[in-house]
Amino acid sequence: MAGAETWSIGPAGEAVTSDGGLVPLLGRAGGAEPGERVVTAPVVCRHCDWNRFEVAAGECYCEGCCLPLGIEDGDVVPGAPMWRLVPSGARLPPVREAPLTAADMVRCPAGHDLFEVGVAYALAGDGGVRRLSVGLRCPLDGASRLYVDNARVVPRACCP
Ligand SMILES: [Zn+2]
Ligand SMILES: [Zn+2]
Repeated sequence: MAGAETWSIGPAGEAVTSDGGLVPLLGRAGGAEPGERVVTAPVVCRHCDWNRFEVAAGECYCEGCCLPLGIEDGDVVPGAPMWRLVPSGARLPPVREAPLTAADMVRCPAGHDLFEVGVAYALAGDGGVRRLSVGLRCPLDGASRLYVDNARVVPRACCP
């Protein structure tokens, strides 16, 4: 999709995800195909309940406890099996080898590096996740963009 890596500016402040930018943003990502259901949700850290994340190299890391959300491996969707992401149309975020450096961090146009994160995923009739989109929103100035644009989800075996 054109413009997936462009920031759009929305309302700033804490009034977040329902109408503040992430859900409409994710609504522009790939929609449902026949037999699918799309679920859109703001992301809260399941370890510490915090909702600000640093973003780098295809993954989002909780500011509160530093643990990854599991964009890359499926932990971000409760109960989902392990997965990997395959681009469908748009490119995936560039993945770097650890250790990450400051240059790998995603920043909004104003230079902030903490984001609210929302996900949209398409569920097949059997409940399996088919595709994933991830949106970022800077709470300080409302800048938002798609980070993962309708990537295909491919199951993978545990513990490669
Ligand atoms: Zn956390
Ligand atoms: Zn910002």
